[in-house]
Amino acid sequence: MERKTEGIVLKSIDYLENDKLVTLLTSEYGKITVRARGVKKTEAKLRFAAQPFCFAEYVFAEKDGRFTLVSATCHESFFELADPDKLYAAYAVTELACIVAPERSPCKGFFLTLAQTLRNLVNEDVQTSVIRYLLAVCKESGFPLNAERCFSCGGELCGKSYFHFPTGSFSCAACRKGTAASGSTVQLIRRYTGLPFEEVGEDDRKVRAIRLLKEYLAFHLDTDLKCLSAYIRQLLE
Ligand SMILES: [Zn+2]
Repeated sequence: MERKTEGIVLKSIDYLENDKLVTLLTSEYGKITVRARGVKKTEAKLRFAAQPFCFAEYVFAEKDGRFTLVSATCHESFFELADPDKLYAAYAVTELACIVAPERSPCKGFFLTLAQTLRNLVNEDVQTSVIRYLLAVCKESGFPLNAERCFSCGGELCGKSYFHFPTGSFSCAACRKGTAASGSTVQLIRRYTGLPFEEVGEDDRKVRAIRLLKEYLAFHLDTDLKCLSAYIRQLLE
């Protein structure tokens, strides 16, 4: 039986002499692995369909629960991501998508967020795109961040605060529950979660927010985020 769906390549690994096993994120079927025959050959017509970040309409055949690529029509290849900063970020977001997306069950939210983020990485500020993506994944995965008020006393969050990993919330300097987070990080999280915010000018505030979000995701997902760590290391160089 043949199926047709839009998909984004999350990763692809070599398989036998000329094939690749391509992990796709799709809206209808969630995360699936499709065998793409012959695509390692340079002249292969479907070579593009196994490239990282390829966004295409995929047709695949199912037999005994295994999928084989039949054809593909490219929507966007995101080749503009060749810039190293964008490329590191793209690997970081697709790695995370690969971890959080459910296997073989619909995940429209994860799919649309990833497609939009890859577009944003091409056209917009890279660090902002990454922060928005990480926040969206936390929300979609059921552990959203809450920077509205101090979760302990209900007071306002201003200046240095503390981030509480188990609840994804901040506490004020008086309550001091959690790990220290700078005032600018809190304001940035407020901004990107749709709350009123103060413009606090610290050059590295986006990097700090990305580090905090990485630690928070690692805490809840109980896994290393190798590509996200590599992206952060590259930002700190
Ligand atoms: Zn408090």
